[in-house]
Amino acid sequence: MTVEMGPPPAPCVPAYRWRLQDRTTVFGTWCPWCRVVHGYAWPEATARPRMAHCATRESPFCARYYRLVCLGELKDGVYAPTLAQAEMIAAVKRLSAPGGRGSAADSSIAAIPAYRLRSSPMHLAFWCPWCRDVHLHGAAAGDGHRVAHCDVESSPFRDGGYHLTCFGTAPSGRLLPHQTAHELLVVSKMLGDREAMS
Ligand SMILES: [Zn+2]
Ligand SMILES: [Zn+2]
Repeated sequence: MTVEMGPPPAPCVPAYRWRLQDRTTVFGTWCPWCRVVHGYAWPEATARPRMAHCATRESPFCARYYRLVCLGELKDGVYAPTLAQAEMIAAVKRLSAPGGRGSAADSSIAAIPAYRLRSSPMHLAFWCPWCRDVHLHGAAAGDGHRVAHCDVESSPFRDGGYHLTCFGTAPSGRLLPHQTAHELLVVSKMLGDREAMS
């Protein structure tokens, strides 16, 4: 199993931030090859390339650089969503594909990272920064368009709904990553090329 690393820019991996007890913010990505979270100091807003901490030779990132794209805040790094190796490779492809390439009819509809819940496997869920609440959807249909569960008038999803993209398994609805509206819009733009997602 390989990931096309290609020339720079380095591939993008899904990552999450959280605060340590001393209030320092760090962020990291859960690695399905090493089966740990590789953590880094929380930096500037730009996702600059970082050397992967992989000690597992089978990892496509071992001794390579990647860029961590923050998909939200966790209560702690131990709650980072987990992905199977194939899921991580798919997630990296989705995040790394140049956005806006296709002219999908639903390109105005936000693409939102969502998660299966270990506590409730029939659901695909995400924490909505507009409603400040968890939106639960059926997981059976897989990735794709859903009618928005937003209750607040200010939500940009109310009319067109949203396009859910699964980024692995979170422990429960209470432990989902909390993304800011800005983080969600940045990632949505990165995922904008729907054709590259299949
Ligand atoms: Zn690793
Ligand atoms: Zn909402």
